[in-house]
Amino acid sequence: MGILALANATYTLGFSLLVASFSYLVAFVVQTKTHNAILASSIIACSLYSLMIYLVYAGGVANTGPLWVFIVAPVSMFIQGLKRGLIGLSIFSLIIVLIMFVPGEFFSNESYEPEFKLRFILSFLTVIFLSACYEYSREKSQNHTLQLSKQYEQLALTDQLTQLANRRGAFNKIEIEQARMARSKEPLSLILCDVDHFKKINDDYGHLTGDAVLIKLAERFKSLVRGQDMVARWGGEEFLFILPGTSVENAALVAQKIHDALAQEKIVHQGRELTITVSMGVVEMQVGGTVDTAINCADKYLYQAKNSGRNQTFPKLL
Ligand code: GH3
Ligand code: MG
Ligand code: MG
Repeated sequence: MGILALANATYTLGFSLLVASFSYLVAFVVQTKTHNAILASSIIACSLYSLMIYLVYAGGVANTGPLWVFIVAPVSMFIQGLKRGLIGLSIFSLIIVLIMFVPGEFFSNESYEPEFKLRFILSFLTVIFLSACYEYSREKSQNHTLQLSKQYEQLALTDQLTQLANRRGAFNKIEIEQARMARSKEPLSLILCDVDHFKKINDDYGHLTGDAVLIKLAERFKSLVRGQDMVARWGGEEFLFILPGTSVENAALVAQKIHDALAQEKIVHQGRELTITVSMGVVEMQVGGTVDTAINCADKYLYQAKNSGRNQTFPKLL
């Protein structure tokens, strides 16, 4: 259109259209290079508003310029969202009203019929209202979908019985901490913990008591670690402690704290005091090492702890 306008010797219109096109290109580059959507959408909106204001002021081809104004409302809502879109459109509408209705040589274009101007403004306001309604319901349903997807993601990473992270959640946490470890050069340790003779608890008191014990153990474990640590349910009665910024020696201290806590304060269920002990294997993750290698190593130590009579942690570092 810009080139056509230039060919028709309507230089100002042609130049305005080409400048607007160029600014859309700039917005596209800003969006793809910096991902600054607010800046990119502001460039498009300002350029579009300016072009439309010029079209209304100059009248365009045979005074048809104002027809293009109708695209401003949906485009503005689409690229800026409800709030910024409404603010931009209010300022834009005010300027259009000034151009069309304020008498005088500087501001106004006197060549529009009064009936046309009034109907034009009313129909434009209607389109703004409809676009705002549409954008409002779109934003609402998008937020609802986002919230649902977050909830499902959370569910997929959580163990339903203990509300601890499940194995997938633990993998996510280890990946995040491994990346941090590579940057900060701080150690990262894991403790694999298995409840001793848990089958006997199920056999003696029933499966429901077994479940209740797992829930209470999960709470106890969480209370024993720091905020940045994670306790995950690795499997049936196996827990994984993920300890960022912790060397294997310090992780062995944490393991000892767990043994002591279980020995000092018994798990009570329905008035019964249950003696629970655990066996643990401790490893420090190696830079560039895989989670599987570390878990296998911890599992090997756990096996040694079981074979050495349970209720202890391997390797013996303390
Ligand atoms: P060990 O000291 O060798 O670890 O003995 P254990 O009895 O703990 O080990 P084993 O692997 O033989 O048994 C684990 C038991 O844990 C068997 C399984 O029924 C029970 N278990 C696994 N998940 C759950 C659960 O969610 N709830 C309950 N109540 N029991 C579970
Ligand atoms: Mg087990
Ligand atoms: Mg066990």
